Amino acid sequence: MYLTENALILREVRFRESDRILTALTADLGKVTLAAHGALSKKSRIAAATQQLTYAELTLFAKDGRYSVREAVTREAFAGLRSELERFALGTYLAECLELFASEGQPEPDLLQLGLNSLYAVSEGIGGLKKVKAAFELRLAGLEGYAPATDSCAVCGRADIQEPVFLPDDGMTVCRKCRKDRRSLPLSDAALTAMRHILNAAPKKMLSFSLEDADLDLLAKVSENWLLHCTGREISSLQYYRNLIGGVLSRDTEGPEEIPRGKE
Ligand SMILES: [Zn+2]
Repeated sequence: MYLTENALILREVRFRESDRILTALTADLGKVTLAAHGALSKKSRIAAATQQLTYAELTLFAKDGRYSVREAVTREAFAGLRSELERFALGTYLAECLELFASEGQPEPDLLQLGLNSLYAVSEGIGGLKKVKAAFELRLAGLEGYAPATDSCAVCGRADIQEPVFLPDDGMTVCRKCRKDRRSLPLSDAALTAMRHILNAAPKKMLSFSLEDADLDLLAKVSENWLLHCTGREISSLQYYRNLIGGVLSRDTEGPEEIPRGKE
């Protein structure tokens, strides 16, 4: 049986002499494994469209629950990702996150849209990489049912959270004085407002906010910590990206002033 699917290629692995095994994200099939026979041979017509971090219209042949790619036409190459190592590394991290969360055999239109919009922003340099990364992480957590509670202080209930902090073990925002002795990350009113926007905005408006650098740093730390908490594991492409930009994982940089002694 033949079918046509638009697919974002999350990962490619070389197989045999000239084949690729692809992990792809589609709206209809969710996460799917595809065989792209001959994709690495010089004469292949599907070589370009079956590269990692390409969005392509694929004609698939399905048999016994397995899919192979028969035709592939590039819909979006995200050329900007390939011109700069830092952008490509971030794109690879976003793809690994999508692969971790996407389900097999059930539709994933929201994840696909988030992936495409975010990769486009990274590729085109829209909004800056730090902002796109933070928004993607928080939005992904929200789509997967891990939206942190941001509407009011989770302890005292007031909507105007006083000197907001984030509790990375609970996914809650609370007033500084309400955190008691729990581990926390600092927020600001502006960073908290941005969190609410990212979680609730229409998909195409997700990046329609602006933050001062200091507030963006707070947001970035909270988003990364929360997503790592939700995955419950290290993500190798994040480590690589961090090494590349000369940073360290935010998990390692929580200031001691924010973590009461003896509570780590
Ligand atoms: Zn409170």
